[in-house]
Amino acid sequence: MAIKDIITVPNEILKKTSTQIETVDNNIKTLAKDMLETMYQHKGIGLAAVQIGILKNLIVIDVSEKDKEKNPLVFINPKIKRFSDEISNYEEGCLSIPDTFIEIERPKFCVVEYIGLDGKKKEMECDGLLSTCLQHECDHLEGKLIIDFLSKLKKEVLIKKLSKHKNSNRIVV
Ligand code: ZN
Repeated sequence: MAIKDIITVPNEILKKTSTQIETVDNNIKTLAKDMLETMYQHKGIGLAAVQIGILKNLIVIDVSEKDKEKNPLVFINPKIKRFSDEISNYEEGCLSIPDTFIEIERPKFCVVEYIGLDGKKKEMECDGLLSTCLQHECDHLEGKLIIDFLSKLKKEVLIKKLSKHKNSNRIVV
């Protein structure tokens, strides 16, 4: 297993669309493990492959409470099929955008279809924090970031600030 470097804005790769995974082979399994290690190391609750520079439709999530047993989830080719009308609100941070938190409204529930590490098609109902986290990560696969929820001007100011940001050791949850 290996801990990878996390790519931060304004790196252009974060804007790119990831591609479907055809076969769940050992490379994909290793990649998922590395992503989980990297996510835990950086104290994140979700990570998309693009954030370590790999443009594949793969995300990992663990929204278990601190000090409780870990609950790593791996989603290959995730596709959100249904959203609720009910909305929830979280202040979201992103491992690729240091020191930035943005309040974002998203559907409170969603149903995701994906492939598991066993290569089988699955479905999961997601609620609350898991729903938000999953939507945040699926956005990454389409090259969309939380700063894209801001107005154009606010976004430009923020990117300028972050471009000067050299401390990559900070922790974002
Ligand atoms: Zn993110």
